[in-house]
Amino acid sequence: MGVLTELLKGLRATGSVLIETVTGKEMLTTRYPKEMREKPQRFHGRHVLNRYPDGMEKCIGCELCAGACPARCIYVRGKDNDPENPNSPGERFGFVYEINMLRCIFCGLCVEACPTEAITMTQLFEFSTTNRGDAIYTREELLMDTDGNVPHMFPDDPLADMKELLTADGWLKATAPAGNASYEGVQTWQGTPGPASWDPEPDQETRDS
Ligand code: SF4
Ligand code: SF4
Repeated sequence: MGVLTELLKGLRATGSVLIETVTGKEMLTTRYPKEMREKPQRFHGRHVLNRYPDGMEKCIGCELCAGACPARCIYVRGKDNDPENPNSPGERFGFVYEINMLRCIFCGLCVEACPTEAITMTQLFEFSTTNRGDAIYTREELLMDTDGNVPHMFPDDPLADMKELLTADGWLKATAPAGNASYEGVQTWQGTPGPASWDPEPDQETRDS
C-alpha cells in the first residue's frame, strides 16, 4: 500500500509538471543542467585559492588548512618567495597545493583555519570524472585567475562559463600589503570572485583606511 501511495505521488508530480509545461505556468522543477537553481550564498562547493586585488596570492603556505582537515585530503608545501618577484605578500607561498576531492567532505574547516582567507569555497559542484587522478585538484586548478574568475577544472565543458559555476561564497577581506603600490595601506572588503554580486553582511561594509 505504501509503495502504491508513493507511486501515485510520483505520477501526480509528473502530471503537474506536464500540465505546467503545456499551460506555461510556473514550474516546480528546472531543466537541469541547462537551467540551474540559484544556490545558497554559503553553499559548499569546490575550493578556490584567492588572490588580493593586486594579483598577489593570498596563500602563504602555512599548512594550517591541511592540519585542520578532518579527512586529511589537503597537501601543501610552502616555499620562500623570490624577493625580486614574490608570489604572495608573506615570506612564503603555497608552492604545492592539492586537494583530494574524493576524500573531501566539504565541511569548510580548511576555510575556517586559514589566517589569510586564501582558501574559500565556490558554487562549483559538478565533480564527475572518469579518471581518479582528475579528482586531485592541484594548485593550477585551484588558484583563481588574475581577473578574479575561478578556473573551471574542465574548460572544454560546454557549461564551463555558466555564471553559477564561477562564483565563490562569502565576502573576502582584501588587504594588499605588498605588490601594486596603489593598494598600499588599503583595507577593504571585496565581493566574491567572478560575476557574483551579493551584498555585504552587516559587519562587512567597504572601508578604507
Ligand atoms: S572542506 Fe573539510 S574535508 Fe574538504 S578539504 Fe576542507 S577541511 Fe578538508
Ligand atoms: S590556504 Fe591558508 S591555511 Fe592553507 S596553506 Fe594557504 S594560507 Fe595556510
